[in-house]
Amino acid sequence: MSTAPTARPVRGTHDLFGEELRRHRVVAETGRKIAERWGYQDIVTPIFEHTEVFARSLGDVSDIVTKEMYTFTDRGGESITLRPENTAGVCRAVISLGLWQQLPVKLFYYGPMFRYERPQKGRLRQFHQIGIECIGAPEPLADAEVIAAGAHTLEALGVLEATVLELNTLGDLDSRARYRDALVGYLRAHETRLSADSRLRLERNPLRILDSKDEGDRAIVAGAPLLHDFLNEPSRTFYARVKEALDRLAVCYVENPRLVRGLDYYTHTAFEFTTTRLGAQGAVLAGGRYDGLVKTLGGPDVPGVGWAAGVERLALLLGEAPPPVRPVAIVPIGEPAEAEAWVLARDLRRAGFAVELAFEGKPGKRMKRADRLGAQLALFMGEEERARGVLKLRLLDSGREEEVARAALVARLRELL
Ligand code: ATP
Ligand code: MG
Repeated sequence: MSTAPTARPVRGTHDLFGEELRRHRVVAETGRKIAERWGYQDIVTPIFEHTEVFARSLGDVSDIVTKEMYTFTDRGGESITLRPENTAGVCRAVISLGLWQQLPVKLFYYGPMFRYERPQKGRLRQFHQIGIECIGAPEPLADAEVIAAGAHTLEALGVLEATVLELNTLGDLDSRARYRDALVGYLRAHETRLSADSRLRLERNPLRILDSKDEGDRAIVAGAPLLHDFLNEPSRTFYARVKEALDRLAVCYVENPRLVRGLDYYTHTAFEFTTTRLGAQGAVLAGGRYDGLVKTLGGPDVPGVGWAAGVERLALLLGEAPPPVRPVAIVPIGEPAEAEAWVLARDLRRAGFAVELAFEGKPGKRMKRADRLGAQLALFMGEEERARGVLKLRLLDSGREEEVARAALVARLRELL
């Protein structure tokens, strides 16, 4: 039977349920918990913003802005975009909420992002990210902290081992400008062999060509001058400090002088935790320093550094999620017990237990459902037991049974579960 179009999720979107959802939750909640330990507060920003917010912050020749944004005009005639990432939204919120008056401000987020991409394993059109932003700290220690918190998050998830941390510096604006000239000079000499995309970038965002996935581009890029040779003294010192701090915290990294982030606003530190276990979708957690961003969005000139991680990609790397809560099943036997079972169920739920009580059915059918739901124990309410104010309790893994007085039930369950 083919599914009616209305019953199919939109291409690149995905329903989360069951074991997969539990793995997803583990990632989001571990992210939040670890961020909290590092002093990052939760923030939730809207899933859509004025298109300007992204057009300005991501740069109008970035892949995201030119190809991937979900942009529409709302009924009031405003251009709105579903957020493709959350750094710009968080910076916008820092301005709107006046949070820059008490710097640094350290924020954690989790939520859905939207990009019009070609869907593949680990690449969706609606996906989720966790991320942290440290805004208002110009010190290299902030970069190191942000990276170390990322490593800690991956470690807490048990996936750090499966990743490699790649590290680079893009230098300050002055170093970048000098490098840019040299790079454009080099690339001009090979212009005719560059991909169409890269030729377009040559004028407006040449550094992005270093990140090109096109084979021909890559061959040309292999011979390009290296940014490191153009770093001025302050940029070199900054980078050295970041590495020192990482060494002190025993965060392992590999330097990759060709690592550039896809977005325009990065300065100094750029990094990416990558894995070989997810095919082409190797980047799991990526970030860097974005000193010009808040100002670009119309705020004060405050620096920032942060990262974002793909929740779906991390969930794919995760082992099996913890099983769902195992409920207590109540099995009434006979009519009067049935009515009473509902009161008991409510009392146990209020006392903090997960309780399964079917709406109807014979004891056998109720037990089948309880098994299917992984119930840990069953409480049988028969006529005879009811008369004596007791229940029969069966531990479903061992089959062991006992009788419990109704008045002592909550205490006994607390002992057993
Ligand atoms: P890629 O090179 O894989 O396209 P990116 O550089 O576009 O990644 P970022 O913008 O840095 O990704 O986003 C941070 C993280 O979000 C990525 O490392 C990845 O884990 C995740 N991510 C990005 N795009 C998607 C997507 N379409 N589906 C699922 N996860 C994604
Ligand atoms: Mg991308």
